[in-house]
Amino acid sequence: MSSSLWKLKDYKNTCKDLFTIPENVYDFIPQNKSPVYKPTEKGIEDIFTKDKGLKKIVKQYEKRSEQVELAKRIIKAFINDKILISEAGTGTGKTFAYLVPAIVWSKFFNERILISTYTKNLEEQLFYKDIKSIAEGLNLRFKATLLKGRNNYLCLKRWEEMFTQNLVALNEDEKKSLLSLIVWQGITKTGDISENSGFWLRKNTRLWSKLSCDTIECEKSECPYFEECYLTKVRKEAMESNIVVINHSLLLSDLIAKQKILGGYSRLIIDEVHNLEKAATDFLGTTINSWQVANLLDRLYSKNKGILLLIKNSLSFLNKNKSVITQDEINGAIETVTETKNLFKMICRIIKDNVKKSAFTGKVRLKGDNHLYVALNPLNSELYSNAQRIINLLEKFMNYAENSKITGKKITENLKQIHNEFLQTIEGIHNILSCEEETNCCWVETYSESENVRFLSAPIVVSSILKEKLFQNLQSAVLLSATVLVENSFDYFKERIGLSEMENTTEFASDSSFDFSKQTLVIIPSFVANPQQSEFFFDVTDIIRKIILATRKGTLILFTSYNLLNRVYRQLVNSMQNDNIMMLAQGISGSRYNITKEFKEVKDSILLGTYSFWEGFDVPGEALETLFITKLPFPSPKEPIIEAKEEFITALGMDPFEKLYIPEAIIKLRQGFGRLIRKKDDRGIIVILDNRLVKKRYGRKFLNSLPTKAVVTYSEEELLEVVKRFWSE
Ligand code: SF4
Repeated sequence: MSSSLWKLKDYKNTCKDLFTIPENVYDFIPQNKSPVYKPTEKGIEDIFTKDKGLKKIVKQYEKRSEQVELAKRIIKAFINDKILISEAGTGTGKTFAYLVPAIVWSKFFNERILISTYTKNLEEQLFYKDIKSIAEGLNLRFKATLLKGRNNYLCLKRWEEMFTQNLVALNEDEKKSLLSLIVWQGITKTGDISENSGFWLRKNTRLWSKLSCDTIECEKSECPYFEECYLTKVRKEAMESNIVVINHSLLLSDLIAKQKILGGYSRLIIDEVHNLEKAATDFLGTTINSWQVANLLDRLYSKNKGILLLIKNSLSFLNKNKSVITQDEINGAIETVTETKNLFKMICRIIKDNVKKSAFTGKVRLKGDNHLYVALNPLNSELYSNAQRIINLLEKFMNYAENSKITGKKITENLKQIHNEFLQTIEGIHNILSCEEETNCCWVETYSESENVRFLSAPIVVSSILKEKLFQNLQSAVLLSATVLVENSFDYFKERIGLSEMENTTEFASDSSFDFSKQTLVIIPSFVANPQQSEFFFDVTDIIRKIILATRKGTLILFTSYNLLNRVYRQLVNSMQNDNIMMLAQGISGSRYNITKEFKEVKDSILLGTYSFWEGFDVPGEALETLFITKLPFPSPKEPIIEAKEEFITALGMDPFEKLYIPEAIIKLRQGFGRLIRKKDDRGIIVILDNRLVKKRYGRKFLNSLPTKAVVTYSEEELLEVVKRFWSE
């Protein structure tokens, strides 16, 4: 507390009056006696159809038979200890359909239920809006907590140390970024960095890594801030809540930590479950950043400071004969750290050079026969043996210090932390660069705008891990998504996440609230060139231009690559401007948030987006009435994890195109398709510009998976005529 900056805490009360400060615990206490709701199908149906409270409080609430049916299926799954997998499209009201049974069950049996989401949007909508509406509507005493992974929270001990010891280690940019944290820290109730919109986390990962809660550095109950600790408090609240809202990454981290984070639970709801496999691939693997390694090496030794220098100084007071470690050994270790830094820089440079030349932007897979793997092999061995020498010395000194008590407790603790972190990081890098585990895919990635190099390893198949570590340990689970069916079957998805052999699984495909045959016109212009032909680009821009000029409607154009997006943008932007039509493009016109906002506000504008716009883009009404899908969204075979999955399927004697590429593309296409109709009174056209839908045999599988029949047009005139007719109806 010695720094004057630390005293900014005094401004807390003043700031409280200026901002709405988010909470992460919601505790509703009703004014009058709560009714008892029965966790039965009939009880749940009555809440949706009869209860006055739900209708009164939830203003926009309107009864939907699909929603009631889904809610009944969910309570039935809880009653019968089943795993229910369900597809419920936009407009079904699926969040209310699972929240009502979850809340009623949790209250009746006093049992904690976890709800996991993938996107921040849904997480916030659930916690800040829907849960509150239902608890208040049902007039139930009820507690819910929003819990995130530990590195989302500010560690108060590290925060203090930043001002008392570590400020000098920051660069100028980091010092500026720290300012927004100082103001925020004065007012936050949660310590959750995501609420601080003035702090750009992606740009400040290094700074935040020095301030966020960290497993290795946490002193737990011995920490002087233990009572006030944001993480400790929210975890305690989560243990005492009826509903805990988490995200998939925390759910998966907890599996690795053997439920030490979330505690025991037996009923789980996973929304946006179509992203579970991706989340599992990301979080059940290892990711190490080059800046983490550089930080660790600096903590060992850097320009007259570091733990090795502390050891050297401690030993210099001892009689030569008494010390088990000689000054020469320490000097040797310091030299090894310097050598290791250079060696590691060389490794990163080689990776950056290779990535620049690689076909798949930003990523290169490491495997036995490729150029990068071979080039890094000797350097990897050298890095590992250098690190072993440093680790051996640290261990020798740690044993000695513990027995002889020549250093204070603080230094010994610090030494242990660095040792553990260094050991873990070096083992991780060594395993990734050696790529010996056949069940894992290893790769490196780096982007031109950043100095950082990421070393990654991920399990190629996650189904058995999810089955063993998650689903088999649950009494009941409800898995929901708007898009998991492939040709009206759950089989593909169940296999991907480990449910295909689980006998207690049930399925339910909810009816859609929309009448797609009336609300949508799906057109496939078969006369467009094949996407592999050079004429494809000209055909695509020509059709897009003509339809936009003929209809003048808000238009979203979905791409599978930046390359085509940029070319189409350049080709069309001037002519559209001349016709007073605003054109916005991802990566060109601003952030996703800003271009979405502008798109909603400016009438009849056009937005060009790649994969992040295929899902979670919610623009109802007239702002979006035309959707172009430029190509079938097959995963890229050059993506390391896709390449590894392809090899795995081939080795099993199966066809990866049938077993992986087609079903993945169908799910993605259905997600893109779902962008157009968001409400019952929405109408619009979808033009799929990839004629493989009608020219290739597999096209039928895609068409069978769409919610309405497509119209095939054979000429430009016919296409424009069909569009005109739809809008005149
Ligand atoms: S208990 Fe751990 S995470 Fe919390 S403030 Fe202390 S050191 Fe940081």
